[in-house]
Amino acid sequence: MTERIDGHTILIGLMAYPIRHSMSPTMHNNAFAKLGLNYAYLAFDITNDKLSDAVKAIRTLDMRGSNVSMPNKQKIIPYLDKLDPAAKLCGAVNTVVNDDGILTGYTTDGTGFMKSLEDEGLDIRGKKMTLSGAGGAGTAIAIQAALDGVAEISIFNAKDKVWDNAKRNVDIINEKTSCKATLHTLEDQEDFKSEIADSAIYCDSTGVGMKPLEDETLVTDPSWFRKDIIVYDTVYAPRTTKLMEVAQKAGVAHVFNGLGMMLEQGAEAFKLWTGKSMPVEYIRELLFKEDK
Ligand code: NAD
Repeated sequence: MTERIDGHTILIGLMAYPIRHSMSPTMHNNAFAKLGLNYAYLAFDITNDKLSDAVKAIRTLDMRGSNVSMPNKQKIIPYLDKLDPAAKLCGAVNTVVNDDGILTGYTTDGTGFMKSLEDEGLDIRGKKMTLSGAGGAGTAIAIQAALDGVAEISIFNAKDKVWDNAKRNVDIINEKTSCKATLHTLEDQEDFKSEIADSAIYCDSTGVGMKPLEDETLVTDPSWFRKDIIVYDTVYAPRTTKLMEVAQKAGVAHVFNGLGMMLEQGAEAFKLWTGKSMPVEYIRELLFKEDK
């Protein structure tokens, strides 16, 4: 690392709180080193009250950009000059690119999700998706899938504080894309079962299956899954969630955790900053050796 840092090193940040647990600095710095790129990626504890100064610093220090995570993904928007179309529809940003003082906000979670399917040779364009969850991850996935040509998305959410956002996502997709989106409540189990039965992919973006809910899953009955459906959990710790176990019991061939999405959202940001492709397989091996 020290060998790479010199007077020309370009800084990229990660602005969030809490953030010290993030794998992104390890991911990006190893990718820069592997490709011999003179960049350094550092995490900064940034709460909403420090956000305005932190964004000013991107321009002042001539940083190439930054990743942004909670609690700043929505709050950063007024401080930016431009938004890419997906970030605009999502109302959230996870990547900022600085082009000579012009700051553009992107969201790469949705593109990362779609790319991770492509990596597996799977194409869900023109098909139907059932998606549970409409928070940060669910919104990015739904909007990008709709922009990329998924034909139908049935969005399920509990009637909790995210319900209104689920409604908003459905309205935006129907207004702004050619995808047909419908809103459903998770409380209607028969409806949930029948929408999954009719879908090419079921994706769970609720985080049920992750601590403290690691023993739970929204789908408990393997008979809900055809063998040829794709089952995708955005959770990556644990690597095999309860939902994935149910899908495996049903004999589903394509069952995924959120690692591919996590790596590919980073790779999309890496490309935006450097113009280069992240060596994704090298990083996967380096960060997740124990998963091989
Ligand atoms: P969020 O808080 O913004 O949204 C949570 C969603 O889950 C909401 O729709 C909420 O209604 C629903 N939900 C929460 N508890 C539930 C329960 N008990 N039953 C039913 N629905 C419930 O969270 P987020 O940022 O969207 O993250 C969700 C999950 O996605 C987390 O596990 C996170 O780790 C994962 N994630 C993965 C990636 C990746 O790259 N793989 C990226 C972002 C998020």
